[in-house]
Amino acid sequence: MLVRVLAVGICGTDLHAFEGTQPFFTYPRILGHELAVEVIETGDGVSEFKTGDRCAVNPYLTCGECAACSRGRTNCCAKMRVIGVHTDGGMRDRILLPAKQMYKCKRLPPAQIPLVETLAVGIHAVGRAAAQPGDRAIVVGAGPIGLSVIEFLRLAGADIGVVEKMPERLEFASRHYGLKRYYPSHAEARQEEPSMLVFDCTGDKGSMESAIQLVQQGCTLVFVGLINDTVSLFDPDLHRREATILASRNSTSAEHRRVLDHMEGGRIDVAAWPTDCVGPDAMGERFPLWLHRQAGVVKAVVEWH
Ligand SMILES: [Zn+2]
Ligand SMILES: [Zn+2]
Repeated sequence: MLVRVLAVGICGTDLHAFEGTQPFFTYPRILGHELAVEVIETGDGVSEFKTGDRCAVNPYLTCGECAACSRGRTNCCAKMRVIGVHTDGGMRDRILLPAKQMYKCKRLPPAQIPLVETLAVGIHAVGRAAAQPGDRAIVVGAGPIGLSVIEFLRLAGADIGVVEKMPERLEFASRHYGLKRYYPSHAEARQEEPSMLVFDCTGDKGSMESAIQLVQQGCTLVFVGLINDTVSLFDPDLHRREATILASRNSTSAEHRRVLDHMEGGRIDVAAWPTDCVGPDAMGERFPLWLHRQAGVVKAVVEWH
């Protein structure tokens, strides 16, 4: 389908790609994988959409045939191609997209639609950990991915804590979600009772290597953030706990649909997240600020049309 780009979310992947530190990138590349679009032309064989439909986009193009896809683990397809990562993305006026990657939105404003993809990463990570009501959980890193994990831990009924070194982000997460356990560092978080579920959403080597210290005996650490580097653990830290370490990558189509359903049903409200909404002309000027993880910016969204 031919679509008009309405809004593009800026995320860590884009910033790392711009810096050249994202492990899955080749260049040149048009960025933009968190998209809100509007249908211009549906094309042959597409009946479920019509011109003017506003849609969220699942940027994960999967092969449908590899071992992972045939087990339903499409989020880690061996031939995964991500729009805006492996193929050119949505930082342009119009783009051709396969209809099966798109989900119709009824109510959401364009600035919130790109967050479907961000939140899908969170719903997948919380699903990996199989969070249960009352589970003691802690999220390390309160950027948009950390906040996405917090949203679904909240829906799962977990007891949530957060570790974040940037004061503004820590403030936003603790205030916005009314969290009672919030810490500016691993060292301070280690003073409390360890957690059953620990989610590292930093993509920071030091944080990923010390996150095991926050895990309760017999419990789980999920690496949601990723890094183009080696992560080393002191084996007794792992074995003493008989800890489970899980990687969480991307999300599935079903998870995108569930996220959209939660957002349109009002169970997830991320209206406060897009703190920096600019037009494409201002993006060049703002990008350096985003690159320095400018304090106070929760989520930057470029409103294309
Ligand atoms: Zn992203
Ligand atoms: Zn596949």
